[in-house]
Amino acid sequence: MSRNIKSANIAFRKHDHRRCQRELLSAARRVCELRKLRLTTRRRQVLEILLISHQPLGAYDILAELNRAASGERIAPPIVYRALEFLLAEGFIHRIESRNAFISCVHPGHLCAAQFLICRDCERVAELENSDAALLAQADVLGFAVDHSVVEITGVCAECQKHGG
Ligand SMILES: [Zn+2]
Ligand SMILES: [Zn+2]
Ligand SMILES: [Zn+2]
Repeated sequence: MSRNIKSANIAFRKHDHRRCQRELLSAARRVCELRKLRLTTRRRQVLEILLISHQPLGAYDILAELNRAASGERIAPPIVYRALEFLLAEGFIHRIESRNAFISCVHPGHLCAAQFLICRDCERVAELENSDAALLAQADVLGFAVDHSVVEITGVCAECQKHGG
């Protein structure tokens, strides 16, 4: 529980995001080593772009960012989609369905369902891990076989409430 609160806090709170980026990237590298996966340059670049902030980015924003970095070379959309697929499958990023966008995971490599708090003012997204256990338990009681669970809660974060009020 304290862990959930901490990760929700990190996105909405002023924090050393450079450290956050470094830690999340090295956590992803460790997971790749453990799972014997290759964090290719393209996959790493896409992850780094998603680590720029705690705001979700669409595939075309990511593509634009990649093309800005690659001087002259045009990167085709399928390359971005393949990298995103890999990062999603390994639990390094999540899809925010209501925004049709992607966000880096705050616990890289976990493969369980996540819940998200989405601030409609600053667009930052906080991830709550494992907190839909009660929902999934209800599905289980009904004998429902869940294959995908997305919980996205929209609202206004504490900081935006302060500044907006
Ligand atoms: Zn951060
Ligand atoms: Zn996650
Ligand atoms: Zn906010």
